[in-house]
Amino acid sequence: MKTFTGIPASAGIAFGKAFVYRDEENSELPRYSITAAEEAAEWARLQKAVAEASEQVKALHDRAGREIGSEQAAIFQAHLMMLEDVDFLDQIRDRLKKSLLNIEWVVWEMCREIAQKLMASPDPIFRERAVDIADVSRRVINSLLSVTRSRFSLADIDEDVILVAHDLMPSDTLVMDKARIKGLAMDMGSRTSHTAILARAFNIPAVLGLSVISREIKDGDFLVLNGSSGTVALDPDKRTLARQEDEERQYRDQADRLGVLRELPAETTDGWRVALKANIEFPEEAERALHYGAEGIGLYRSEFLYITPGKAAEEETQYNAYSRVLKAMGKLPVTIRTVDVGGDKVSPELLTVNEKNPLLGWRAIRMSLANPELFKVQLRAILRASVEGNVRIMFPMISGIEELEQALVLLDEARSECKKKKQPFAQNIKAGAMIEIPSAAMTADILAEKSDFFSLGTNDLIQYSLAVDRGNEKVNYLGDSHHPAVLRFIKRTIDAAHEKGIKAAMCGELAGNPSATAILIGLGLDEFSMAASSIPLVKQIIRGTSHAACKALADEAMRARSIAEVRAAVKTWMAANAPAGEYGI
Ligand code: PEP
Ligand code: MG
Repeated sequence: MKTFTGIPASAGIAFGKAFVYRDEENSELPRYSITAAEEAAEWARLQKAVAEASEQVKALHDRAGREIGSEQAAIFQAHLMMLEDVDFLDQIRDRLKKSLLNIEWVVWEMCREIAQKLMASPDPIFRERAVDIADVSRRVINSLLSVTRSRFSLADIDEDVILVAHDLMPSDTLVMDKARIKGLAMDMGSRTSHTAILARAFNIPAVLGLSVISREIKDGDFLVLNGSSGTVALDPDKRTLARQEDEERQYRDQADRLGVLRELPAETTDGWRVALKANIEFPEEAERALHYGAEGIGLYRSEFLYITPGKAAEEETQYNAYSRVLKAMGKLPVTIRTVDVGGDKVSPELLTVNEKNPLLGWRAIRMSLANPELFKVQLRAILRASVEGNVRIMFPMISGIEELEQALVLLDEARSECKKKKQPFAQNIKAGAMIEIPSAAMTADILAEKSDFFSLGTNDLIQYSLAVDRGNEKVNYLGDSHHPAVLRFIKRTIDAAHEKGIKAAMCGELAGNPSATAILIGLGLDEFSMAASSIPLVKQIIRGTSHAACKALADEAMRARSIAEVRAAVKTWMAANAPAGEYGI
């Protein structure tokens, strides 16, 4: 047995076979000369590989059509057309004849050249094709090399596995069948990285920041992954296995007990009522949010409509996604955040330059304001969907009043465009700013004049106020949500909102962290939005305490000089106010 320890990123325990995902370049691709006499055999190998690849793509196309959507299916359709393109195959044959090199090398070299030319094009349509060419060539090469399972797409996983990877891009996770992923172990990442957020959204136990696990685990290895303690055991001994099975039973029992809270309000013993909402990334999560008792969607991250390999979703696709969520939630409020790509969330269409500091670069509202037409596609889609329910709009990464004002002007323009086309939309849709940059927190009093509500994005607020890359496991220990600076930014934002008579929400991961619940209640936070599965536990804490007690803790935390002092205050408070061990903190 060997045990790896990382960051507990999504609770729960998984047992199963490892699937190691390596998105590596073809660094070990063989290159050797062939004789003219061998050319025909080499060509026959290619034809067989192309036929095999076509079968795989057809299967993916059908599955995407059934399970993901027509946009993704259209991408596989394009791949199929490439595999059947006679000109393309003729060019490969020519090069094979001239170079007399093995066919996988010929395919790789030719596709790389084409992809590089396409990538250099200013036209996004051509750049998208480059991604497709790379996908298709890797599929054919895998076939030629008899790689039994194609590793470049997580869409190929068709059995229950524990996924082990170095890092995953949000677009990788988009295509995978989440029901098949029983656990997730990654070298990179932290509790607030996007993979962690996704894992919690889908209730997949996850351990991140494991440094080298993807190099040490092989396909098919038996693993026990504990997302609550942050450990992954390879070939566990009998005792460990029994202990983990026991813990898993307890975990499920606790989840059942918390389920009883679903219909009860999030109210303290002295009648202080707050709203508990869910964060979602995919429309199909709305039902799950209701299952856990969410009183609305406090953050719908819309970027998954943008990062599908290929291109940003069209207005109609976006409209359908938003409508689906709004209909599912009925009268409950749904806060749709306008797109936040850039940083570590990459969109092939919008990304034009390699940035040295992407997290300080062209991301979120900055990108939207620089592409007003594309931004208005999204705003119109939201406006049109607004007749289906109770929508609010939220702008990410607002750094000051100018950006908020510009966004509101574009929202007005989108309204006029809908009016012109006689497309109905709800009146008085609330629009708010995310507070996730220190400059926004410092000027919250000014932003409150133009904002209908605030939502604190603590994942970024912590990253930017403490200068800690949220996805870098080496500095992760510094990104502590209980830092006095973070608490001060939060307090300042809530106070500024209340002074102007607007509500303060929080949709960063801190909102679902049980060790922060009492402080946040004490600071006066009105709405908490979190992974749906975190709602019952947070609700239980709220229902078991009084606002007066929380206020006393918040006052003490605000006087604390260090993270350690804040945490000590929370610990003492928990010992006096919460049953020991119940909250798993
Ligand atoms: C945040 O930064 O806290 C947030 C909710 O946004 P995201 O995690 O999507 O950046
Ligand atoms: Mg953010």
